[in-house]
Amino acid sequence: MIEYVNSEERALVEVAREFARDRLRELDRQCDRDESSICVVLPQMAEMGFLSLRLPESVGGLGCNRLAYAAILHEIAYASPSACVTISVHNLVGEMLSRLGGERIQAEILPQMGQAESLGALAVSEADAGSDAASSATRAVKRGGQWLINGAKMWITNGVHGRWFVTLVQTRQIGDKHGLCMILVDGRQQGLERLKIEGKMGIRGSETVSLHLTDVRAPLDHLLGEEGSGLKQALMALNGGRIGVAAQATGIAEACLDEMVGYARQRVQFGQPIARFQAIQTMVADSASELAAAKALIARACTLAGDDDGFIAAAAKAKLYATEMACRVADRAVQVHGGTGYVNDTIVEKLYRDVRVTRIYEGTSEIQRVVITRELLPDSLIPG
Ligand SMILES: Cc1cc2nc3c(=O)[nH]c(=O)nc-3n(C[C@H](O)[C@H](O)[C@H](O)COP(=O)(O)OP(=O)(O)OC[C@H]3O[C@@H](n4cnc5c(N)ncnc54)[C@H](O)[C@@H]3O)c2cc1C
Repeated sequence: MIEYVNSEERALVEVAREFARDRLRELDRQCDRDESSICVVLPQMAEMGFLSLRLPESVGGLGCNRLAYAAILHEIAYASPSACVTISVHNLVGEMLSRLGGERIQAEILPQMGQAESLGALAVSEADAGSDAASSATRAVKRGGQWLINGAKMWITNGVHGRWFVTLVQTRQIGDKHGLCMILVDGRQQGLERLKIEGKMGIRGSETVSLHLTDVRAPLDHLLGEEGSGLKQALMALNGGRIGVAAQATGIAEACLDEMVGYARQRVQFGQPIARFQAIQTMVADSASELAAAKALIARACTLAGDDDGFIAAAAKAKLYATEMACRVADRAVQVHGGTGYVNDTIVEKLYRDVRVTRIYEGTSEIQRVVITRELLPDSLIPG
């Protein structure tokens, strides 16, 4: 991704790369083994500016543009896919607050968002409302000059250490899109319980929880944007988030490609390095070409400003292609390693598991196809 950024941004990306490879790579493997949280290095990641990449400079953020941001996420994912998703979800929340937060959020909460104690989480999904987020059933009512929230959210990244939860709630009948709102919930409020989801296939260092909200209170001005605009806000945030997941996928694919090349050079069979076999070269060449194509799609999506249909489709194409590509590349990386790639002391085994989720979260591949097709067939009967 670094090939697309300018020289000033390049320096920032290189610093991120160095930190990620020196400080996150081994830790990520340890977290994978014992399912511990990568958030133990949140203070160091905050110090590096990773938690304020997309925050405006006016509140002490780095104000990275989308391209530089994607390039940094790519480098972080190369070393630690778990750190990458932690950082990208947090920055997505920071972006939402800076775009939609009222005066008090802007003045009091946003300037703190670069700190480890202010980790953000996005609570949209529920057990019965995944791809169909509009069917969310978590309820919010106004009571005594506050929001009172009851319900449960599922699969929430950053849920253990998270302080600020941007939460999709329903204020009317379930299924009424005009009743959906985004409310910022303080994780320190009474009635909010977090249950860690154990046993994930990959990104085991990232925190995933189910959230249970029982009479949780939030100030009325913690409503983000207009009342009834929650679904729109969630989808807008996810459009940007998809570029983050795409960059996570290219970072993982690049790591797989490097492992593949390194192993092919040193593994000898039939008296020569397996790199000499054309079948192996084909896997390397296909992976390198597809990785380059994915990076170009991400760069294109990053150059399209705003939230118009062009950007939405471009972000969906980048996510769809990059994540499907990364799964293919991870599969080839295991194949090139033969039996060695099938045991958990090789990095490719972990990356093969880590990459799988990129086709699921922030909109599955099937949902990306729905989004892309909607642009081409606007009158067809596509749900959503
Ligand atoms: C590790 C992890 C972290 C996550 N982090 C977060 C987070 O921080 N915040 C959050 O809110 N959510 C998070 N999620 C949830 C994630 O966004 C959902 O899992 C995803 O949107 C899919 O929803 P679902 O799992 O309910 O699957 P479902 O929606 O039930 O989908 C099941 C299958 O049906 C397909 N399908 C559904 N609808 C259609 C359709 N219209 N057309 C074609 N196919 C369709 C899907 O593509 C999929 O193959 C996370 C998930 C995971 C696994």
